[in-house]
Amino acid sequence: MMTSRIGRVVAASAATAVATLGVTVANPAPASAAMTICYNTSQAGSFAGIAGQAASIWNNATTNLTLSANCGSNLRIYQITGGGSYAIRTSLGNGRVYIDTQQAQQYSPLRIMTHEIGHILGLPDNYNGNCSLLMSGGSAGTSCTNPYPSTTEANRVSNLFAGTRAAERAEGSGSAVFRDSWPAVAATVG
Ligand SMILES: [Zn+2]
Repeated sequence: MMTSRIGRVVAASAATAVATLGVTVANPAPASAAMTICYNTSQAGSFAGIAGQAASIWNNATTNLTLSANCGSNLRIYQITGGGSYAIRTSLGNGRVYIDTQQAQQYSPLRIMTHEIGHILGLPDNYNGNCSLLMSGGSAGTSCTNPYPSTTEANRVSNLFAGTRAAERAEGSGSAVFRDSWPAVAATVG
């Protein structure tokens, strides 16, 4: 009887301690259906590290998705020589990215990488020459090394993955091939 009671008291104290610890340490994560996009760099050659940097940039800039290495192959990244960098999106968050070594000697490799991954995340090209945009690609010239999506671009991706904008989701989730971004055809001003 006595032993049993002490046992309960100890158990209750332990539970309190755990609960307190939980409040202190574990920041309760919001219940979300964030998509994990596993990217595979086994064929990315010298661009594997840059792929990791690009993943961090997108993870920091967006919500509702997480690019993660070594967990699968939603996104395969390839190093190629010649023919131009491009992206093939099979569905939102899934596809293949090809980085052309020759173009990466002219343009910022990190900007190319984040741009091409941007296509996989649902963004179209926007060749307006604006270096503050990521999806302006090569239209911003070789001197533009900005690897960061604008707030507008990042928010659009977050919204696509939140699935809260049906029209954009439909637009962004379809299969598509994105070529000729480096250099890009200059947009007509007007
Ligand atoms: Zn592009």
